[in-house]
Amino acid sequence: MSVTKTITVMGATGSIGQSTLALVRQFSELFSVQALVAGSDAEGLAALAREFRPKMIGLHDLTKLDQLRSALTDIDVEIIVGEAGCTQIAASPVDMVVAGIVGIAGLPSVLAAVQSGQTIALANKEALVSAGGLVMREAARCGAHILPVDSEHNAVFQCWQGWNGHASKQLGQADTDLLSHICLTASGGPFLHTPLDDLPAMTPQQAVRHPNWSMGQKISVDSATMMNKGLEVIEAYWLFGLQPDQIEVLIHPQQAVHGMIYFRDGSVLAQLAGADMRTPISYALAWPERLQWADTRLDLSAIGQLSFEAVDMQRFPCFALARQALRDGGAAPAILNAANEVAVAAFLQGKIGFTRIAAVVDTVLDQSASAQIDSLEAVMAIDAASRDLALAAVTKNQSYLSD
Ligand code: NAD
Ligand code: MG
Repeated sequence: MSVTKTITVMGATGSIGQSTLALVRQFSELFSVQALVAGSDAEGLAALAREFRPKMIGLHDLTKLDQLRSALTDIDVEIIVGEAGCTQIAASPVDMVVAGIVGIAGLPSVLAAVQSGQTIALANKEALVSAGGLVMREAARCGAHILPVDSEHNAVFQCWQGWNGHASKQLGQADTDLLSHICLTASGGPFLHTPLDDLPAMTPQQAVRHPNWSMGQKISVDSATMMNKGLEVIEAYWLFGLQPDQIEVLIHPQQAVHGMIYFRDGSVLAQLAGADMRTPISYALAWPERLQWADTRLDLSAIGQLSFEAVDMQRFPCFALARQALRDGGAAPAILNAANEVAVAAFLQGKIGFTRIAAVVDTVLDQSASAQIDSLEAVMAIDAASRDLALAAVTKNQSYLSD
């Protein structure tokens, strides 16, 4: 990369934020941190502000303002709090906004960045799941670029670019007639081989122990239920402009292949990499160039064998629910996402058993009417109503804690 890029990191204290900042630390001459945003970790944000010296920092949690201020009395940084402040930061012009907030909480800032025409390295998949039509429409209208950071989508993006010529075409605007389908791989998570009868008793500690990746708690539980892959199918639908049945998922426990594109002439392009989020993040950060940092090579002879298998819908009902929500369209994916966020939080708090996550999501989808999603307000209203239904469903499912 020849010029320094200014970047804003939304979700700076999280797993994606930390991996991003590890690269920024290593390539300090190539990136200049303009702003950092976090949810409620005032201490973590203060430490990052001290190290990276951004112009602005944003904290969603208003109650932590005093703590943040007093930790930073000796450095010159603008401190902004609350949702509107974080959204305002996402909209202020930089070369790249990294969207690494977890959950629907990331949607307002993703939309704000899109509407101010930013280039966005998108890790937050829930924004596209809940409001993909709105976000992609606004991106086209406002000239925003969305570069996928989710490893499978980044893999497809890399194959897509290899095919189309370097950075020649935007996502979703290529000639998809030549393409038969894409494939996203999944590890299958920690319970791929757990006897079905034992699944209800799986604990949060067991669920967040992902076999390959180290990630935030919510996405780790989503990987265990495979809701994560269901959300990713919806994410891919919006990013690549394909039909739902053109997005295949295969379980590939070795996680060497992350994504593939299949052409109608029989050729398949695949992207392979180790399980390190710095690979897709660095591709997005440097795009259309590449950074040189990985000192270990993917050692296929050490892995030995690569295996692929279809998803077992009985073991992973959340995956089936997400696929169905995409087929149903309208507000169904937003309802699915909201119910899942509530159910996962309840599971992590020990309120419901592991297999009750799917039960809660299923109940809420059944109880909800279809609706149009044409504005941020409409999405947030559906999200709030679905959360209420999900909280009621959690209460009902508490009595089945370990069945
Ligand atoms: P995490 O829980 O580790 O971090 C979340 C970050 O968001 C934290 O910095 C937190 O302070 C911030 N945050 C939470 N609520 C906020 C709010 N209301 N306003 C502002 N900031 C807020 O999560 P993560 O694992 O880094 O995942 C982030 C996103 O990236 C998720 O959507 C996830 O699906 C996606 N993703 C993560 C990985 C991974 O390896 N971790 C891989 C692919 C995709
Ligand atoms: Mg992924």
